[in-house]
Amino acid sequence: MLEVSTNIKADLRAGLKKYFGYDAFRGRQEEVIVNLMKGNDGFVIMPTGAGKSLCYQLPAILMPGTALVISPLIALMKNQVDQMQALGIEAGFLNSSMNRADYEAVKAKAISQQLKLLYVAPESLVKEEFIEFLNQANVSFVAVDEVHCISEWGHDFRPEYRRIRQILNNIHKVPVIALTATATPKVQADIRQNLHLEEASVFLSSFNRTNLYYEIRPKHDPIPEIIKYVKMQNGNSGIIYCLSRRKVEELSDLLNVNGIKSVPYHAGLDSHLRTQHQDSFLKEEVQVVCATIAFGMGIDKPDVRFVIHYDVPKSIEGYYQETGRAGRDGLEGNCVLFYDFNDIIKLEKFMKDKPVSEREAGKHLLYEMASFCESGVCRRKQLLHYFGEEYDEKRCNSMCDNCRYPKSRFDATKVAHTALRCVQEVSGKFVINHLVQIIKGSKNQQILSFGHDKLETHGQNDGRGEKEWKSIITQLIVNDYLIKDIDDYGTIKLSPKGIAWLKNPASMDMIVYQEPDKIERDHFQTEDVRQYDDILFDKLKKLRKEIAQQKNIPPYVVFQDPSLEDMAMKYPINIQEFQNIQGVGSGKAQKFGAPFIALIKKYVEENDIERSANVVVKTAGKNSANKLFIIQHIDRKTPLDEIASQKSLSMDEMLEELWHIITSGTKLNIDYYIQDSIDEDKQDEIYDYFMQADSDDLEMAQKELGTDFTSEEIQLMRAKFYSELAN
Ligand code: ADP
Ligand code: MG
Ligand code: ZN
Repeated sequence: MLEVSTNIKADLRAGLKKYFGYDAFRGRQEEVIVNLMKGNDGFVIMPTGAGKSLCYQLPAILMPGTALVISPLIALMKNQVDQMQALGIEAGFLNSSMNRADYEAVKAKAISQQLKLLYVAPESLVKEEFIEFLNQANVSFVAVDEVHCISEWGHDFRPEYRRIRQILNNIHKVPVIALTATATPKVQADIRQNLHLEEASVFLSSFNRTNLYYEIRPKHDPIPEIIKYVKMQNGNSGIIYCLSRRKVEELSDLLNVNGIKSVPYHAGLDSHLRTQHQDSFLKEEVQVVCATIAFGMGIDKPDVRFVIHYDVPKSIEGYYQETGRAGRDGLEGNCVLFYDFNDIIKLEKFMKDKPVSEREAGKHLLYEMASFCESGVCRRKQLLHYFGEEYDEKRCNSMCDNCRYPKSRFDATKVAHTALRCVQEVSGKFVINHLVQIIKGSKNQQILSFGHDKLETHGQNDGRGEKEWKSIITQLIVNDYLIKDIDDYGTIKLSPKGIAWLKNPASMDMIVYQEPDKIERDHFQTEDVRQYDDILFDKLKKLRKEIAQQKNIPPYVVFQDPSLEDMAMKYPINIQEFQNIQGVGSGKAQKFGAPFIALIKKYVEENDIERSANVVVKTAGKNSANKLFIIQHIDRKTPLDEIASQKSLSMDEMLEELWHIITSGTKLNIDYYIQDSIDEDKQDEIYDYFMQADSDDLEMAQKELGTDFTSEEIQLMRAKFYSELAN
């Protein structure tokens, strides 16, 4: 098994910067990776957008051999492979959509160890020949992504996932890392048992998505509101979820008619069309996808800026997962749900023919959802409470409607009494409208024919309107004082809690009813806190799209939004500065940097922009004293081993520092030391190697050059090479 040096963390951080262009790990990524590289199994439960992929991508790059990544969807696989290749990493996939020749070619590449990552679909796995192949390949570890697919209790059950363990048992023992965003304990237990991960270290992180803004709006006349909302999104991508296929088609058409490019997506479309629609969304040929929940897991677009629920989801878990597709890149994500209690009733009716237990469970989930929507409590607090997390709403930072526009409450003891008493008087045999008519004191035909004008509660309306009373009764239902009996035409009955309360009324408060169109929602979007140059940002975005189109990849594979923002803030005008941009490693800088740098340079010149000095200087960090010392002593031609020992660094650490200095743009001449320590033929050979190699990867160089060359020699020559040619 791989020896884990004490230096592993420094290596990991260097790798993170070099390949991915990130300065720091997020959350528990580093712990997860260290655990894996030590040869241990791991079970990672982190919300969508937390950065789970990196937990296997980085170790795959750093460890010898090929990492096997099991992933459920073909579209997702292709996506990740594109992303890896854009970073300059060799990756491939195997699935049923490929022809034989391509399939064999990828296998051959894996066997000859040219791949760092191999993505496979679970159905390919179970074939006999696949096991043989795996035993020929040098598998570094196995990652099982979207591992909740293993469980029937999860939202995307895939029977083939249940066979994964069997495969693992038939190949050489390697560490396994399983990853999911599913928070429910039942699914988690299922996964551990099925994959034999009982001993695995568990990495569970908070499900709080701090960058998402949650908002529930009354579903009044939603279509014009949605159109207006999308138009204010500045062309940013979004998903609109509807429950029925018909609605999806209808809404998508309406958006198109109104000048918003949109495609429908649902399980009723044939798979070719589905892929096509998904692709056009990824490539930003359309702004919006209108979808049933069938759309989601396969979509890894990091810059979805809004998720709208046209219909209420069937459970809080569903709501959380679907809204979770917004803002994966950590930037703004707006989640708006259009809520109408009648939708809950409708959904409940759909379950009418299901077995009683299933119906009861479904109803329970639905009512939890309803209560979530109607409650005036911080949305985030409620969501996290649902997943068993404590949360102090002061931290929400106005990132939900209830925190931003607190709903006023009133003492509802008296009206609650009237409503409950009214239900009691009519023995729970009437529907909501009739109850309201009684309380309002109506003397219509129906009231009179039942003699309901004689009731004690008749006319006790307390000066309130019809809609107010409906809101009061609905709140009583959601809070369990009343039951709406679907099996009995939707009549309203007292619950045991309601009966108990009537016997012994305690004070109760409720949310004040507001007419939907009077609710102030003008500034529903997250406050604009842009610090970057948005004119340049738009230009960069256009350029990104052009390049993506040329190369036929999604724009975010070129650079993600946070990188463009960083460019529009720091104005990098050469490759060294460019590599300091967030999310830009050396691979990406080389592959895509030039046109961006050219654009920025032109922009800076044309607009006379003063660039701040801190861009040019690489982040100082705690090692800057070492760096300075090294640079000064190289200028004085002090032998490198001597510099190392003076700073009590190992030669390896010393060489790593050197590499950092050089790759951040400082030119150093180390010929004096190389002449003394490496014989000339060897120098030439290594130099030639780097001349033709398409990566500066050390491991690859070592493999290519063979054991005649020490790692130190290779590192020294690489430093010379880079310093001479790149700086
Ligand atoms: P998940 O699979 O957990 O939903 P992804 O792996 O798709 O999340 O990552 C979400 C986003 O986070 C991606 O855009 C990725 O590039 C970004 N990301 C991951 N790790 C980091 C990091 N350490 N620093 C900055 N961005 C990161
Ligand atoms: Mg993922
Ligand atoms: Zn809140």
